[in-house]
Amino acid sequence: MVPWAEIDFALLDMDGTLLDRYFDDYFWEEHVPQKYAEVKKISYAKARKKLLAMYKKEEKTLNWTDVLYWSDRIGLDIVAMKEALRSQVRVHVGVEVFLNFLRDEKKEIILVTNAHPRTVQIKLEQTQLLPYFDSVLCSADIGLPKEEVGFWRDAERVLRFKKERSLFIDDNENVLLAAHTYGIKHLLHKSGASSRFLDERSDLFPSLDQFTDLIPK
Ligand SMILES: [Mg+2]
Repeated sequence: MVPWAEIDFALLDMDGTLLDRYFDDYFWEEHVPQKYAEVKKISYAKARKKLLAMYKKEEKTLNWTDVLYWSDRIGLDIVAMKEALRSQVRVHVGVEVFLNFLRDEKKEIILVTNAHPRTVQIKLEQTQLLPYFDSVLCSADIGLPKEEVGFWRDAERVLRFKKERSLFIDDNENVLLAAHTYGIKHLLHKSGASSRFLDERSDLFPSLDQFTDLIPK
């Protein structure tokens, strides 16, 4: 499925790709609205509707994943709330086996995420995945989200990977499209990003169901 001899760099997204997106969906779409309803003394339905509309406006921007932006905007301590739920972060099946395979094959392993540095720290500590990565790049470090082609140009300059010798795996088609436009050669879409919606697939990119499928038998 993947021509490993042509690949030196494995660029991996975090939320939805290595980690089950169920955590994020639950956190933003249920947990935060519950707390917001309590604090504002409004109904859960009203709180949820209001917050989902606020989120929608910030999609595909850096604000979307900026926990400090949302703490300020919503008036809740989002970092503390994530900390409190950290034990619910789940790693997708086969991720550690796959990361060990990459390490044994001497590939450079790079986490490339739109998530905020505080969120990355909480999740990688909790899941004990941090030691696997040669580098971690948050889009806040670049100042552009991964959906922008400019992100990839700057990322290649900062990380010194070679786009024609790289594999990039993400669960977001818009992000994969930007990486494709920039010229990252090998692209895979992580299907079943959330354990609640296992049938989510891409029509544009080859789908990856399980990480162990990438390991030659
Ligand atoms: Mg993702």
